[in-house]
Amino acid sequence: MQNLLDLDRPAMVEWFRARGEKPFRAQQVVKWIHQQGVDDFDLMTNLAKPLREALKREACIRGPVVASVQRSADGTRKWLFELTDGNRIETVYIPEPDRATLCISSQVGCALNCSFCSTAQQGFNRNLSAAEIIGQLWMANRLLAAEGQAQVSNVVFMGMGEPLLNLDQVLRAVHLMQDDFAYALSKRRVTLSTAGVVPGLQRLARESDISLALSLHAPNDALRDELVPLNRKYRIEAVLQACKAYVGEGRRRVTIEYVMLADVNDSDQHAHDLARVLAQVPSKVNLIPFNPFPAARYKRSSARRIERFRDILYAHGVVTITRRTRGEDIDAACGQLAGDFEDRTRRRQRISVELMGGAA
Ligand code: SAH
Repeated sequence: MQNLLDLDRPAMVEWFRARGEKPFRAQQVVKWIHQQGVDDFDLMTNLAKPLREALKREACIRGPVVASVQRSADGTRKWLFELTDGNRIETVYIPEPDRATLCISSQVGCALNCSFCSTAQQGFNRNLSAAEIIGQLWMANRLLAAEGQAQVSNVVFMGMGEPLLNLDQVLRAVHLMQDDFAYALSKRRVTLSTAGVVPGLQRLARESDISLALSLHAPNDALRDELVPLNRKYRIEAVLQACKAYVGEGRRRVTIEYVMLADVNDSDQHAHDLARVLAQVPSKVNLIPFNPFPAARYKRSSARRIERFRDILYAHGVVTITRRTRGEDIDAACGQLAGDFEDRTRRRQRISVELMGGAA
């Protein structure tokens, strides 16, 4: 049984062609699924009955199932989605006056083991399929439409997982996000956030033009080694070079994410160093107040410290904004997504050692 959510438009055309159907049939089906949110072939009224019957036999349209939903006082909501194998992932909807952002997951858990992130605590379980990635957007829009709420206008790969370590599936989902026959989101409205996987950045530059965010969090390698262990494999200099190469023609500045950890990376000197390090890359800085979680060993920098840090960056001419924390009351803020593992024997499994080439 082919889950049609797994197919971007070229793959859908191929799938229909193999069944002796014209390419425009594939386009019609893509529109039904992604623009109308339909999962019932009988509702696809512009397809002939025999084709609908054949589709019912050979294909399905199956998204993740809502296990629970939590609503924040600020309008943010967090869905816990259950996948067919019982694993659970989190997806966050963040409404604002001028946009509605969906923060989606790319893996069940995460292998990178960043010391300030709650997703790291559960270790890595598996990659999501393209269907499971686009399925978060597909399902969110269906649920929102049923309530008369604004459809998703922006997508950020800032949920669970490292998207550049699941790039095949992520790119297929991105194609659908950008496809005029599906979600038609412009490159400004789809942002991939990465801890800095250099080969992934290089491939992304060849195959995509979406917006890029880099989780930097430290201005020097010694400190970044501690916060983002992936840094032992891909040093700041190499990562920033790859980001610079990414920001070629027609692409915007890279967003630099910097989590504000009290007395760890938030001194005046860190701010000066950060400005110097960033001078070589067209970038803007997003300061993220640390969001606590059980067993966290860090504290959030004070509001005054964050302001001071921002002012120093400003003085160096670095465009800086402080990310407003949303959905904190439902653990939906950055770094608070945990999901749930079905297979608890694999809970502590990490592929980080292999990933770091033994350096960890
Ligand atoms: N693996 C990707 C995608 C995760 S994005 C990446 O590293 O970019 C999630 C963002 O939230 C990242 O910038 C991450 O560093 C940040 N983050 C993680 N834990 C956090 C926490 N406890 N408080 C604030 N931000 C956090």
